[in-house]
Amino acid sequence: MRAAIYHAPGDVRIEEVEPSEPGDGEVLIRVDAALTCATDAKAYRRGHPVLLGPAPTRFGHEYAGTVIAAGSGVMFAPGDRVAGANSAPCDRCEACLRGQEPLCQSLFPLLNGAYAEQLLVPRHIAAINLHRLADGVEPALGALCEPLACALHGVEASGAQAGERIGVLGRGALGRLLAAALAARGCSVTTLGSSDADPPMRFDRVIEAAGAVEAWQRAVALVRPGGTVVLFGGLPGGTSVTFDAYRLHYEAITVRGVFHHAPRHVRAAIDLVTRDPVPYRALLTHAYRLDDVIEPLEMTAGIRPRDGILKAVITP
Ligand SMILES: [Zn+2]
Ligand SMILES: [Zn+2]
Repeated sequence: MRAAIYHAPGDVRIEEVEPSEPGDGEVLIRVDAALTCATDAKAYRRGHPVLLGPAPTRFGHEYAGTVIAAGSGVMFAPGDRVAGANSAPCDRCEACLRGQEPLCQSLFPLLNGAYAEQLLVPRHIAAINLHRLADGVEPALGALCEPLACALHGVEASGAQAGERIGVLGRGALGRLLAAALAARGCSVTTLGSSDADPPMRFDRVIEAAGAVEAWQRAVALVRPGGTVVLFGGLPGGTSVTFDAYRLHYEAITVRGVFHHAPRHVRAAIDLVTRDPVPYRALLTHAYRLDDVIEPLEMTAGIRPRDGILKAVITP
């Protein structure tokens, strides 16, 4: 079977690889749709040891497919249409026992290999974070469950309530997923890009999804006294960000970071795209065959003209 193999920054090749046999608890799927993602584009441009591990390695982590074969003890059967996350918590470590599954000490290595004809879903993910898709849910929407689960984690951490004014900083795919999930909660959402002017009124809550120092600072500046800021877009380790102490102390704002997702967010994400697909379909701006996956990755990374790309649907 054919798969995208990451060799080094800027060097991803489609290669013929040995097909896998599912062992106990594992599920082998035919990939019906994989999605490009800014994290993959970043990994393509400059490497990403956390996401990819040592090269050469399989690539792509947002997927949906049809079960080809399942090992023993699995609740899926050949022909089932499924979508899943790229990790699953162990439910045994300190972080999991505290209920902080996104910080699970066994989260890594993350699953990669969605840019391929077939994907072997390992046992721990198949047991917790792989889900059947209802009839009529197109695979590309199922594949959105991973980034949407991250967004739902961000929304949960913000504490956003129906009727509140929420600012989202960043107009990329995650900014839009956050905005759609907040709108589904009944919030009044304003999405701001880096060139948009600040609104006259401060927000009840602000979610930063631009992944830039200036956006982190702007998020803190735009929240009302007593409001909450969620820092969603990651910055490289070692980055320092300064905030006005007055805002944090005298105006008692809450500032918190979120990373990744828990199984409840993955389930909720599948539920959302099943019930109301329209706002999510709008993110699937491009479509490519597996052989051409480098093109949308280079567009997302800004190596080629972006052409308004949010997510490309990759089909074998
Ligand atoms: Zn992603
Ligand atoms: Zn754990």
